[in-house]
Amino acid sequence: LNMTMDPRDRKYWKPEIETMPRDALTALQNRLLREQIAYVYEQSPFYRRKFDAEGITPADIQTADDLQHVPFTTKEEYEEEQRRHPPYGGMLCVPQDQLTRYWTTSGTTGRPRVFGTTTDDYLDYLESAARVLWAGGVRPGWKVMVPFAHGHWIGLWGVFDATWYKVGAQIVPVGGYDTKGRILKMAEIGIDAFCGTPTYAAYLSEVAREMGIDVKAIGVKSILMAGEPAADATRRFIEDTWGARTVDFYGNTENLSYHGVDCETQTGFHFWEDRVVAEVIDPVTGKRVEDGAEGELVCTNLTAKSMPAIRFRTHDLTRLTKEPCACGRTHNRIQYILGRRENVVKIRDINIYPRVIEDLVRSTEGLGSEFRIIFERDRGLDYLKLQIEPLEGLNDSVRKKYEEQIQLKVKTAIGITPRIEVLPHGTLEVSQQKANRVIDKRLAKES
Ligand SMILES: [Zn+2]
Repeated sequence: LNMTMDPRDRKYWKPEIETMPRDALTALQNRLLREQIAYVYEQSPFYRRKFDAEGITPADIQTADDLQHVPFTTKEEYEEEQRRHPPYGGMLCVPQDQLTRYWTTSGTTGRPRVFGTTTDDYLDYLESAARVLWAGGVRPGWKVMVPFAHGHWIGLWGVFDATWYKVGAQIVPVGGYDTKGRILKMAEIGIDAFCGTPTYAAYLSEVAREMGIDVKAIGVKSILMAGEPAADATRRFIEDTWGARTVDFYGNTENLSYHGVDCETQTGFHFWEDRVVAEVIDPVTGKRVEDGAEGELVCTNLTAKSMPAIRFRTHDLTRLTKEPCACGRTHNRIQYILGRRENVVKIRDINIYPRVIEDLVRSTEGLGSEFRIIFERDRGLDYLKLQIEPLEGLNDSVRKKYEEQIQLKVKTAIGITPRIEVLPHGTLEVSQQKANRVIDKRLAKES
């Protein structure tokens, strides 16, 4: 019937996987899990030790439900293991001479963890990136820019390489350019899509505005975003500014995969169940929470062979839903990441999610995209201080206007009146990778 259909018109990158009936998908996941656990037990001294300590053998793990008996793996264990057995630790399942790429984590928290991949693993990683690019509308003939430093952090490399190698679109490398140079190149050749953190997407448009360049005129159709949680208001801000759609996706270095991608319904990440097992646990008890309840995301690799992570605690807070999705993909969804476990801050017995404050800042007309949330203690009482940057020049009336506006918004949303510090635009540093905008000064003073 559809023999003349252009392959570019197909909706999914891998329809047979992305829309696989649920029972077949579950069977596939369980089969891959059994093979992976047996493989890891055989190849990794680190995991074999953990299994042995719990008296578990690979035969005990037949389904994703059985994973609950397997101990977690933490960032701290990675760090400790790599300190003892540098550089990779006993998580490495292949001889070092089979590794063809070297990586580290971005170092948002703690000391960077080190990873190596074989060529097969990296190509498999690109397969997950191709699903992201395709869902984001990228097609052969598109020009794609992935502005990043081309360093050790794997985060954006997969999207960079999958653009040309898998999807067949044209990649425009700008690793050595500064932000202004990237904007000039975008405008010069007319970029169709670019990829970066939400922070960087917002920052690019601010710098372009200062340069007198109308980013809407560039004609960008899709903006692929990852690396940090994007609040709804941030997405709307970026979409309105660029006149483009945003596509959010999720991954983590340990699990060597872009596990999840947004679809056109923008209702959460489809979590690729043929690549990773996703569990949501109570961060305190370690028990799985009910579907739909908030908890910490725990991921187990199904396809990676060089350094697969088993029950890795991501510290990312989310919710899992098994509701069917209107887009036709059958893989379950996790909600957009709510924040990092360590970033949920308690103040006067109230849990504060930085994402909520981000939403308030980014939905305020006239404010720049950078901000900082600072928790401080003054004569025994905890305060929340919010630093913001208006786009216009600072004078007393501008200062007062934003102070009142943001103060009222935050107080209404979380019940605490914040101290507002209005700074000249450009004072706060912009990170190209993961931004850390929450500073808790209370602990330092106590100790
Ligand atoms: Zn969907």
